[in-house]
Amino acid sequence: KGQVVGTYADFEEETRLIQRAFTETLLEGDNEGKPHLFPNTIYTLRKETMTSEYEEDIRLVHELSAKYGSSYFVNMFPKYRGKMANYMGCRTCLQDTWTGDWDQDCLRTGNLAYVTLNLPRIGYQSRDESQVFEYLDAYMDLAVETLMLRREQGLKCLNDFHILPFLKQQVAEDSYYRIQNSTLSFGFVGLNEMLSSLFGEGIENADANKFGVKCIEYINDRANQLKDETGLRWSVIQTPAESTAYRFATLDKKQFGDQAIVQGEGNANYYTNSSHVPVDTGLSLIEKIKIEEQYHSITPGGHIFHAFMGESYSDPDSLMSLTNKIARKSDIGFWAYSSALSFCLKCKTLMKGLNNVCPTCGEKEDVEWYDRITGYVQQVGRAKSASGGWNPGKRQELIDRRRFEDN
Ligand SMILES: [Zn+2]
Repeated sequence: KGQVVGTYADFEEETRLIQRAFTETLLEGDNEGKPHLFPNTIYTLRKETMTSEYEEDIRLVHELSAKYGSSYFVNMFPKYRGKMANYMGCRTCLQDTWTGDWDQDCLRTGNLAYVTLNLPRIGYQSRDESQVFEYLDAYMDLAVETLMLRREQGLKCLNDFHILPFLKQQVAEDSYYRIQNSTLSFGFVGLNEMLSSLFGEGIENADANKFGVKCIEYINDRANQLKDETGLRWSVIQTPAESTAYRFATLDKKQFGDQAIVQGEGNANYYTNSSHVPVDTGLSLIEKIKIEEQYHSITPGGHIFHAFMGESYSDPDSLMSLTNKIARKSDIGFWAYSSALSFCLKCKTLMKGLNNVCPTCGEKEDVEWYDRITGYVQQVGRAKSASGGWNPGKRQELIDRRRFEDN
């Protein structure tokens, strides 16, 4: 059995050394100069660390952001925060708002399962706004039933089938994995398209957005009610929807025909992710933040703000000043600066942006693209020799992404 040798605070200097070494290693890239895609690197910004004392560390992180776009930021400044929030790169999150004890709420537990509500489909079937809530109720009932089954199955795997001995090992009075603190969540996709079908305009319209916030608050209220009714930890998450955004749009186009409002063309359709602004928005970065920040406090199970950056943001200092503004002045809880990269597999040249031809050797086929798919930075699968790749809906979204320039 281990012995307590101090608290986290006693190891601050060691932690900073490890953090710096880790960031420096990532900055070097792999042996070919490509970005390291894993592990995800998540940096938590707090009042206590956003000071001149840590400026050098923070600048190094922004060098990494400017070069590969791979770092994520957790914002602990907003009022809705407690002491701790743990994120996974794709966006799922645990905050200390369950028991109020950050150890119980954030460590040795997890987001057990979530079910995604197809919001555009609710829009197509609803005569008016009040019917939207009737459909939400019906969809959430189904989700609750599914999630309870998932939990039951999880418990059987832990307690009856004994197939997860690592999670089951005893720590003090408890098993290592504290399933009693794990979450069951409502996810959702395509708020923008649901609003379009009801209002004629999507989330960028102020009235539509107001109704959008009301809908997600409604889902939250249900989650809170369920906490009282079941004693379990219910939550709401912006579904990452790496494949769901494509799948739902494709299914709905088949079922609802021209009534379906989808992004993309031909067979490469998709819904806008969760409560995001469409990727091809004409809004400025600040305007996009002002809409999306309204959803971060009401999606405690996870959320992300994507800043798709253009080439002028390869300057770490301008990124750093942007970070300061987002952290101190917005309710954005989690974000990343994503920039598209191309890599020539033949001559190993790394380029900013999506390039079809290598400027160094003229290669056309073996130029691979990289960008953030929904959470992680990944290979797109453009190169002939690439293994795996994005689905057609995701690829179309990548092309549609409007990138912000420093102006
Ligand atoms: Zn080349």
